[in-house]
Amino acid sequence: MNNWNPGSWRDFPIKQQPTYNDLEKLKKVEKELATYPPLIFAEEARRLKSQLAQVVEGNAFLLQGGDCAESFNAFNANNIKDLFKVMMQMAVVLTFSGGCPVVKVGRIAGQFAKPRSSDFEEIKGVSLPSYRGDIINNMDFTQKDRTPKAKKLLKAYNQSAATLNLLRAFARGGMADLHKVHAWNLDFVKDNTLGEMYEQLANKISETLKFMESCGITSENTSKLRETVLYTSHEALLLNYEEALTRRDSLSGDWYDCSAHMLWIGDRTRGLNDAHIEYFRGIHNPIGCKVGPSMKEDELIELIDALNPENEAGRLNLIVRMGHEKVADIFPKLLRKVKQEGKKVVWSCDPMHGNTTKTDNGYKTRDFEAILSEVKQFFQIHKAEGTYAGGIHLEMTGQNVTECTGSESAAITAEGLSSRYHTQCDPRLNADQALELAFMIADTLKE
Ligand code: PEP
Ligand code: MN
Repeated sequence: MNNWNPGSWRDFPIKQQPTYNDLEKLKKVEKELATYPPLIFAEEARRLKSQLAQVVEGNAFLLQGGDCAESFNAFNANNIKDLFKVMMQMAVVLTFSGGCPVVKVGRIAGQFAKPRSSDFEEIKGVSLPSYRGDIINNMDFTQKDRTPKAKKLLKAYNQSAATLNLLRAFARGGMADLHKVHAWNLDFVKDNTLGEMYEQLANKISETLKFMESCGITSENTSKLRETVLYTSHEALLLNYEEALTRRDSLSGDWYDCSAHMLWIGDRTRGLNDAHIEYFRGIHNPIGCKVGPSMKEDELIELIDALNPENEAGRLNLIVRMGHEKVADIFPKLLRKVKQEGKKVVWSCDPMHGNTTKTDNGYKTRDFEAILSEVKQFFQIHKAEGTYAGGIHLEMTGQNVTECTGSESAAITAEGLSSRYHTQCDPRLNADQALELAFMIADTLKE
């Protein structure tokens, strides 16, 4: 690769970065991080890439979801377990009702750095640096909390390692066994219509498993029923962290960002001549790039060529986030152009980031109807163009939060948002809402 090395991004303009006061300390932290073990193994990233190539072919569906921003304070086993369970529920709904294998990717174990609309936040005449995620500074509105601290990179690494360890234990240690399909239903979901819909589906799966057992197919003799894989992903925004975890794979000799299986570039940092594109072009992981309403057709083709010059299927996921009012206007021409140029990409829909609003009482929220509408339009547009709507990218949690308004099952009003509004950054779907969306998508996949 021409003139690329894990640090070559440093010679390019870069957006959305913190200003560290103590650069010596930052250098020390980066050096230390570079000696730590990788969080993932290159072979796993290659396996994910080959599964995403199946999505490109229309043979599988990508389910990517998790927090907008992970938090140091809310770091506990229950949060991780509940997200794992909802992802399993959604995957089983999509696989069983939608008839499609699901590639599961969490926004987890590294999703800490956030792009912000402004560098500063002003409250009552006081202006402080914006909160940029727990890997950078703290949310509390004091000068001390908002000052970026390099040592937080080490804490982010350690939390990611512990999170990944638990996820691997859940995936391989029995929690993912299809015989536990009933146990994935979370207590607060159980009693409503959606919980019932899920129970009915779980009953059908249990019956099917019984039948398979009588034919001699059991969890004991096939790991397919017993185990799963949940891959990890995050926005690789803070390149100091990503560079320190970029390692050369001893098998292939290629460079991988070993902080997660998949990394993506945000809509605000995808400038063609900027540092993030430089960094991403050299790593061999499967990668994503957000595609927002300002994207132009030619620009998109240039971006694809920069990030995936070999046109390798499974390498690049375009994550479309236009908003429900714009998607029908803007997306079809981009899709047509990419199709016409024969580019192999996974198309997924992020129905969250184009649909953020603020309520009169000051809460950042997203309306479930707007989210549903963008997803439906995304599928319709693909159908009309004869292309494949390959996946969904969500901000969601297994907790019973009140952050997005609406939905049949959760019925959250603007007034009700304050009751359990816990997000570090953007509003997430709760488990009810995420499951409702999965049932809707499963119906669409069946068509
Ligand atoms: C995000 O995914 O949290 C995000 C900031 O998205 P985008 O880059 O699409 O705005
Ligand atoms: Mn977000």
